[in-house]
Amino acid sequence: MLTYEQARQKVIEKIGEKKGPRATEQVRVGDALGYVLAQEVKTDREYPPFNRATRDGYAVFAADAKAGATLKCTGEIKAGDRVTRDLWAETCVQIMTGAAVPSGADAVVMIEHTRRDGDEVRFERAAVAGQNFVPHGSEARAGQTLLASGMRLGYAELALAAQVGAAELKCAQKPRVAILSTGDEIVPVDSIPGRFQIRNSNSVSLAAQVRLAGGKPVLLGNAMDREDDLFSKIRRGLQEDLLVLSGGVSMGKYDLVEKVLKEMGAEFYFDAVAIRPGKPAVFGKCGETFLFGLPGNPVSTMVTFELFVAPAVDLLSGADARALPIFEARLGEALNERPGVTHFLPARMEGQGAEREVKVLKWQGSGDVAALGKANCYVVVPAEEEELAVGERVKILLRRDLL
Ligand code: AMP
Ligand code: MG
Repeated sequence: MLTYEQARQKVIEKIGEKKGPRATEQVRVGDALGYVLAQEVKTDREYPPFNRATRDGYAVFAADAKAGATLKCTGEIKAGDRVTRDLWAETCVQIMTGAAVPSGADAVVMIEHTRRDGDEVRFERAAVAGQNFVPHGSEARAGQTLLASGMRLGYAELALAAQVGAAELKCAQKPRVAILSTGDEIVPVDSIPGRFQIRNSNSVSLAAQVRLAGGKPVLLGNAMDREDDLFSKIRRGLQEDLLVLSGGVSMGKYDLVEKVLKEMGAEFYFDAVAIRPGKPAVFGKCGETFLFGLPGNPVSTMVTFELFVAPAVDLLSGADARALPIFEARLGEALNERPGVTHFLPARMEGQGAEREVKVLKWQGSGDVAALGKANCYVVVPAEEEELAVGERVKILLRRDLL
């Protein structure tokens, strides 16, 4: 059985082989969060476009503003002001952060290091040439590539694109991810379930995880545990870029997902992973479409999505697979887990930095809905560990949406 790292690698390898250029669309810069860029973004001019003051103070010739010197202030420049004249020798000009330093001036002295008396400014420290302004063109040249094709657009990249006037961006279309839950007991979330029925929470969490990963969810509802229903709904799902099923992949008599997929000609790259929860996770391909069959217990579905489906969505988006958000924390309570599989235990992390402490939640296993809302991470217990003591440093997989 593959370890979760091997299974993840398998996904990256298989989908990576098929990675090609994606169809593109024009997206307004303000709406492009999470898209993958399909063009270069270049600077429209030099940055900064003028010598930009980084402090409120006085623009001077550094040689004039010696410690104890007094210079006459001949004017003021606010951010956005047009600067029409050079600085005159033996004078200074009051200047604000973000304003253009007048020609000739080679330093800005912070207002805190001066004393003003009418038109006279006394300098308490010697100015140093180059101080407190960013020289014209020093951040970026005109026509320089700042964002490369294939980059994922986060808020900083969007700010950069906006700064250089890229109001619309050519982006790879987000991969469409079909979501199909399975199970005779599953009913829509807006219905009143019978006593032995369960509302379809997996389709909701999966759609949210697809969005977070950068895909477009396509909700196909639920298939009953019957071959005919599975067959027709799976066939519909295979029309999208990726198909994600939940439930029906365990050993039960009515776990028919693999059987139906096999009859439809699917090949499987793995159908079990040495993890808990999530062991029966399936990854394969049917026709040209990659697919996942995730176990139906809500926590299993969430964990296996993060481990295996998220990198698939990355690659299908035209980007590289992002690393798992795994960090370290101090264990707040001892743990004793069966060795042989890697455990992902819903847990709550509190505190900052070295003080960060994590406690595994009391839960009734991977179907425990009540435990779900309290977890902000999962403690990762390696397959070779059995007992972990209080205070030990452990790996935690952070929930991406709470990072
Ligand atoms: P399965 O993987 O089909 O054996 O399902 C495992 C458990 O997860 C069962 O208790 C199911 O009722 C539950 N389950 C399956 N699908 C869903 C779903 N879409 N939403 C919520 N719970 C589910
Ligand atoms: Mg089921």
